[in-house]
Amino acid sequence: MKLAEIQPFFATLQAANPHPETELVYSTPFELLTAVLLSAQATDVGVNKATARLFPVANTPKAILDLGLDGLCEYIRTIGLYKSKAKHLLETCRMLIEQHGGEVPRSREALEALPGVGRKTANVVLNVAFGEPTMAVDTHIFRVGNRTGLAIGKTPLEVELKLLKRVPAEFMVHAHHWLILHGRYVCQARKPRCWECSVATWCHHKPKTPSPASGQ
Ligand code: SF4
Repeated sequence: MKLAEIQPFFATLQAANPHPETELVYSTPFELLTAVLLSAQATDVGVNKATARLFPVANTPKAILDLGLDGLCEYIRTIGLYKSKAKHLLETCRMLIEQHGGEVPRSREALEALPGVGRKTANVVLNVAFGEPTMAVDTHIFRVGNRTGLAIGKTPLEVELKLLKRVPAEFMVHAHHWLILHGRYVCQARKPRCWECSVATWCHHKPKTPSPASGQ
C-alpha cells in the first residue's frame, strides 16, 4: 500500500469510530495489565467474565497476592492456561510491590521484565493505559497488515516496526484498535467481508470476497 493510500485508509476507519476502545473491561492500569496478561489465547469476553468476579474482590497487587494461588485460580479457572497465568500474575504482583511501589510502570523495559508480560502485552499497556503511540501486533493486526499491503512482514515484530514507520502520526495512538476491530469484525481470517468493507478502495488484497447475496 502506498503512503498516499494509508492516509484515507485510516481517515475512513477513524470517521466510523473516532474513539475506539479495547473490549477488555478495566478501570485502572493494574486491572488492564491483569486482563491483558490473562487474555493470551483466550477471548476478551471470557476474560471479562472472570475479571467481573475477580476485580470487585481483588484489583491491586497486594489484594491479588493475598488471594494466593488456589484463591486466584478459583476466579480464573474458566480461562485457558489459567494455572500458569495465575503463577505469572502472582509473581508480577510481587515485583510490582517490591520494585514499583505497587504501581504499573510506564516503561517498556520494566513491563517486559514482569513474568508473563511480553512485547505485545507491554505495547497494549503502554498504548491503552498511558496513551503511548505503540503498536501491539496480535493475530488480527498481523493478518490485516499483510493482507491489505499496509505492513507486510513475516513476523509480528516486522509488521509492528513497519506500522510504526508507515502509520501517519495523527492516527498512531488509535491505529492499533482500529486494526484489531477491523480484523475481528470485517477482515476476518477465513472469509474477509470485502463486500461491506469501508477501506476496500485502498486494500491491495485480490480478489475481493463477493457478497454472499451476489451468488458468486
Ligand atoms: S477489502 Fe477485504 S481483504 Fe481488504 S481490508 Fe477489506 S475485508 Fe480485508
